[in-house]
Amino acid sequence: MDELFTTLPESTDRNIKAVGIISGGLDSMLACRVLMDQGIDVTAITFVTPFFGSVRGEAAAASLGITHHVIDITGEHLKMVKAPKFGYGRNMNPCIDCHAMMFAKAGELMEEISGHFLFSGEVLGQRPMSQNVKALRLVEKESGCEGLIVRPLSAKRLTETEVEKAGFVDRERLLDIQGRSRKRQMELAASYGLNEFPTPGGGCLLTDPGFSTRLKELFEASPQATATDVTRLKFGRHFRLPSGSKAVVGRHEDDNEGLEGLFTPDDYSLQVEDITGPLVLLEGGADEADIRIAAALTLRYSRAVGRREAVVIVKGPGKTERKVTEAPADDEITERYRIARRTAPERQQNE
Ligand code: SF4
Repeated sequence: MDELFTTLPESTDRNIKAVGIISGGLDSMLACRVLMDQGIDVTAITFVTPFFGSVRGEAAAASLGITHHVIDITGEHLKMVKAPKFGYGRNMNPCIDCHAMMFAKAGELMEEISGHFLFSGEVLGQRPMSQNVKALRLVEKESGCEGLIVRPLSAKRLTETEVEKAGFVDRERLLDIQGRSRKRQMELAASYGLNEFPTPGGGCLLTDPGFSTRLKELFEASPQATATDVTRLKFGRHFRLPSGSKAVVGRHEDDNEGLEGLFTPDDYSLQVEDITGPLVLLEGGADEADIRIAAALTLRYSRAVGRREAVVIVKGPGKTERKVTEAPADDEITERYRIARRTAPERQQNE
């Protein structure tokens, strides 16, 4: 890494500090490296919500050897996702509002550490909704950080920023990448010796069609949905039952473990008696008919599936426990209440 370091632009001998939003993907890593090459002191920030995490960002920052901050923005981000000012992309991804929120937060960190500017690995034209000139400008304006955001990978294709004019960063040594091709980035990665980085996309569940279908259904059925409700969407099969409550059926051990931590005191848990099967979370508020259907679904996905009927143990609020004898749900019942199947990328992220 050291041989790639050079001195700051001649126009300044100050210690220039930049705060970059990094996802951990290749583009964000390259943006850091391009600025580090100018001797700029780079601090990275990664945000956490139920829709995306910080693991990749942490790994990227560690491999670059830079200071890294992880900020959980779950509460305000969820509120925004329910009603984004600038709408959604192809799925439930409100990228303009989301980026604006992230830059606003990064701006707070910049002030705290007396930094000079912000940056990201965005590439002009790479994503149609959020990475066109108009959208990039809109994000700047909405974030309250106008003139302070540099996109090192595409800077030469964008209007010169105040940061460049002030000499905090040397525009000549920034790049002019544009479009969806990854060729330039791959060449740059090779020149930096970066060979371990995640494939593009796959980092945000809001761009996943299957997850988005379930999230939309959740917001419609339950406008007050909490972060816990959203986190449940990452696990298992989902069914909306007649009274409006939801049953989540674990698919495998990991789902069952994930669900275990997501019960509230009002919820029911269902498991087949003495037969291997899923853990089922049934939301509080379920009525007797819901409990019966949830028991049938529990059996359908258990080793009891070929039997005429079997016993399900239902643990309810206040540590109550009872046994329900039911027949496994047939295809018609299962499909009638199923919300949406999970997609392959979503499964990859959570399995
Ligand atoms: S892809 Fe997800 S994390 Fe990225 S800006 Fe869009 S909504 Fe936010």
